[in-house]
Amino acid sequence: MKNKNTSILKDLISDKKKVVIVPHTSPDGDAIGSSLALMHLLKNMGHTVNVLSPNQPPYFLKWSPGFEEIIYYEFDEEKCSKIINNSDLIFTLDFNDLNRIGELGNLVKSSSSKIIMIDHHQNPNDYADLIFSKPDIGSTCELLYEIITQLGYKELINSKIASCLYLGIMTDTGSFQYSNVTSRTHEIVADLIKNGVDQSEIYNKVYNDASQSKLKVLGCALSNLKQIKELNTAYMYLKRKDLKEFDFKKGDSEGIVNYGLSLKNIKFSVIFIEDFEVENKIKISFRSQGDFSCNKFANNHFNGGGHTNAAGGIDKGPIEETINKFKEVINQYKEELTNN
Ligand code: 5GP
Ligand code: MN
Repeated sequence: MKNKNTSILKDLISDKKKVVIVPHTSPDGDAIGSSLALMHLLKNMGHTVNVLSPNQPPYFLKWSPGFEEIIYYEFDEEKCSKIINNSDLIFTLDFNDLNRIGELGNLVKSSSSKIIMIDHHQNPNDYADLIFSKPDIGSTCELLYEIITQLGYKELINSKIASCLYLGIMTDTGSFQYSNVTSRTHEIVADLIKNGVDQSEIYNKVYNDASQSKLKVLGCALSNLKQIKELNTAYMYLKRKDLKEFDFKKGDSEGIVNYGLSLKNIKFSVIFIEDFEVENKIKISFRSQGDFSCNKFANNHFNGGGHTNAAGGIDKGPIEETINKFKEVINQYKEELTNN
């Protein structure tokens, strides 16, 4: 991956800089893992680094090395604004469109800092001065590993950095099950394990740390599951009253959408979730097997995007209308969903 961008980046970080790192809204394991890995690396090189997140990640990421240093825009807009205005470099990680970071996007856009995008989603926007965009790579953490290697800083990967990178690779590949996992992914993971990652411990911290509310929410979604068999599609929903009843916590609904794909012949699985706090906001997650593009579907109909096999979107609701709209537009995809 030797390219001009890597040498420009190497130049940019060749003297001590004030660096800001921004993951996307509702950051997942890849966004948090890549942001904290880069934070540790740049701090160890002597830079001043702040990770500014639009809002809080789910509870099962709290153990991540450096997690306590993250500053949240939702709690401290003024502090974030000051840090951005006083920065030299802004890294935006695991997203490629400033609308993915809400109001923080305006601060980033209007700052005079150099902006560096490191991301693996399709169709990057052009807000950044330097773009590392690799939609064929399974996670931003894997891409970041490649960039660190290319910069010649591989020896700087200590156990904290390795754990952060492993977190993002594991979570964004569905624990190494998706088709974007390559032999190179496994080589990288082998190197991270050599550098001190305890992979079993990380898996347990992320996936086996649930409270009973998570299983209740899962049970509720599964009991609402419907199949549209002629379109090889399954969908589920969670209403706010259910979330309240089962004592929902942020993160409890993560991964539920994948259960739809475990059904025989199902190629496309969707979950609709009413926002816990905001009226008229339905969060939608899309997952597919094979070539069916969740990214295109989310982008065409639900103000969203992502990857071929995993994407997200939003709709204004009410949830019944959102589901009806979905059941209508899905008919346009009959051919793609039923050809093998
Ligand atoms: P999830 O369904 O887990 O929220 O998201 C799946 C994938 O789609 C992730 O890679 C995430 O970054 C992306 N994604 C989720 N929501 C949105 C959205 O509203 N817009 C875009 N462009 N991507 C999204
Ligand atoms: Mn990602």
